[in-house]
Amino acid sequence: MSSITFVIGATASGKSFYINEMFSQEDVDILNAYDYQQRAYDEAGYEDAIPISVQKKCVMKANSMLLEDILRDVKAGKKVVVEQTFYKAKRRIAYIDEIRKCGDVTIDVHVMCPDDDRWKMNIQKRGLDDRFEYYKAIEAEIEFPNPSEGFDNIFAVKNGKPVLRMDDPKPEIVDIARKELQKEAEMIKAEDARREEKEKLIESMKKRPFWHYCEVCGKKEYITAEQAYMSGWDYPPHIGMFGVLSPRTCGNCSDMDTLWAKFIAKDESNCFTTSELNESERKTLQRIKGEPESLLTEDAWDL
Ligand SMILES: [Zn+2]
Repeated sequence: MSSITFVIGATASGKSFYINEMFSQEDVDILNAYDYQQRAYDEAGYEDAIPISVQKKCVMKANSMLLEDILRDVKAGKKVVVEQTFYKAKRRIAYIDEIRKCGDVTIDVHVMCPDDDRWKMNIQKRGLDDRFEYYKAIEAEIEFPNPSEGFDNIFAVKNGKPVLRMDDPKPEIVDIARKELQKEAEMIKAEDARREEKEKLIESMKKRPFWHYCEVCGKKEYITAEQAYMSGWDYPPHIGMFGVLSPRTCGNCSDMDTLWAKFIAKDESNCFTTSELNESERKTLQRIKGEPESLLTEDAWDL
């Protein structure tokens, strides 16, 4: 019969060391969520400075790749140990629901609960000295697993020793978790649909006429991107990108009189407070931020 052991806990709480001590002698497949996240980031093409929205997608992708491997092992009757963070009951329930569908399997979880001194030592060893309070705050967010989530055995690991801790069942958390997961799935679907719409709109801007506003002389024309380009306009999509600050000028005005020029001249701080802008510059900024939608109708954007 297959078995899965999740080892969960905050950063530097000793998960890897514990897994090595407890399970490396057995014939087990050890999977680490961190490796899957790294792979997802690599595939997305980011090494560092990953935007939050991409991070979220990568973590989701990593979780689903990890789940696939767990299911593969379960179907093959193997023993698996999984290092995960898994702070929230709903994340664990989503996994357990899928794993239980795959057949007869024992699912255990070991929760790292190091005392502060040992934890501080681990953090020091990793050169993360100043982060103890931060990790401690994160630990407070871990929802301790409950038997109702579907675990066979739940252990609290105190300084390297697993102690069985089966709290009173709370069946209501399962319903709450499923509802939250459902809501999340709907939000992701809506977000994807919005992004798809936006991409379609941006694509359509190559062909459709839209409002071109010269931020310097105030000239405006309802023309296509091609017509604008031919008559000398500096305007996305040919020059610059929608939604990103760069000159928006007709063929007769200079880039050096634009909001963009004012922005790059401010080399020390490179940021503005809106009080430094006049009415017309504020409108330009707002219009650029709202592109390309802000260029479809003339109304409120007239200078
Ligand atoms: Zn102009």
